[in-house]
Amino acid sequence: MHVYYDKDADLALIRARRVAVIGYGSQGHAHALNLRDSGIDVVVGLREGGDSWRKATVAGLQVATMAEAAAQADIVMLLIPDETIGRVYRESVAPAMRAGAALGFAHGFSIHYGQVVPREDLDVIMIAPKAPGHTVRSTYAQGGGVPALVAVAQDRSGMARDIALAYASAIGCGRSGVIETDFREETETDLFGEQAVLCGGTVELVKAGFDTLVEAGYAPEMAYFECLHELKLIVDLIYEGGIGTMNYGISNNAEFGEYLTGPRIVTELTRAAMREVLQGIQSGDYARQFILESQAGAPTLQSRRRLTAAHPIETVGARLRAMMPWIGQGALVDRERN
Ligand code: NAP
Ligand code: MG
Repeated sequence: MHVYYDKDADLALIRARRVAVIGYGSQGHAHALNLRDSGIDVVVGLREGGDSWRKATVAGLQVATMAEAAAQADIVMLLIPDETIGRVYRESVAPAMRAGAALGFAHGFSIHYGQVVPREDLDVIMIAPKAPGHTVRSTYAQGGGVPALVAVAQDRSGMARDIALAYASAIGCGRSGVIETDFREETETDLFGEQAVLCGGTVELVKAGFDTLVEAGYAPEMAYFECLHELKLIVDLIYEGGIGTMNYGISNNAEFGEYLTGPRIVTELTRAAMREVLQGIQSGDYARQFILESQAGAPTLQSRRRLTAAHPIETVGARLRAMMPWIGQGALVDRERN
């Protein structure tokens, strides 16, 4: 696997181009601000009257409607929710884009599952930072960058890969490393990782641990500390030096418990479930469910957000975090600004 760095990217390629960033949410604000701070000519394309219009304007960015922005740009980066991309592309972006321009994504979903069938004359590229948007921004602002994946689905100019690399470098990713992949691999591994491990698996594991302790009569505050709060401390060690460094940092007692109990929690059944989840992603089953969810008005997302907010781990957690003011200092997420 080849890793690219800033030295492999030709920033002149993106300096010579105007970039339209469509959307100013988690990824959108990070790309727009990082590009601007790298000296790139950026216009943010948004729907009028939305919250983002005000936030991007307050940040000093040039803002236009999505069609206007797309019409002015040589690279159009679609950074709106995946379930909205197909429609926005068809209605506002495809009719407006310049001939031979580049269409960019931060996730392969829309192309891989046929939600966007790109115009024949366009380059189609992916620049997918491997971090939440707020980290993409904060890391760049500190002088670093997060790793990213780049891929090319359509290369009409013969320069699609170089344009993707230049873009990745301009948002800071060349400082830590850019890996080339393809749309299928990025889409399927990204969905699997977030569902099985990062978001789905972790949240259920944390809640199950918390519930077990609380049901057994222990204080919810204790359960919060042991099962949620300390997760970050452990993950920091794993992130820094792998599992070995984490095991070096914890007690022999904790390490022995890890070996004895871990495989009793994540069992062969869990691994079989993971393989099934992966098959559902590969077959398009998951994508169909997600798109239907959106067409139905997102009932699952809304109900589950409400139920999660009411779970004791969230209410107890909010109270405990209020007593630890250092946690909020330098917060990654400021909902007022993006
Ligand atoms: P997001 O924060 O949910 O996007 C919000 C933005 O999209 C806002 O500017 C919002 O404008 C606009 N928007 C929402 N619905 C819209 C619609 N129907 N028409 C037009 N604009 C609409 O999105 P995201 O999480 O950054 O994801 C963007 C892309 O990056 C996705 O492809 C995702 O898979 C990928 N990605 C995300 C992350 C991440 O950290 N979140 C990480 C890697 C890749 P208003 O204010 O007007 O509503
Ligand atoms: Mg994802």
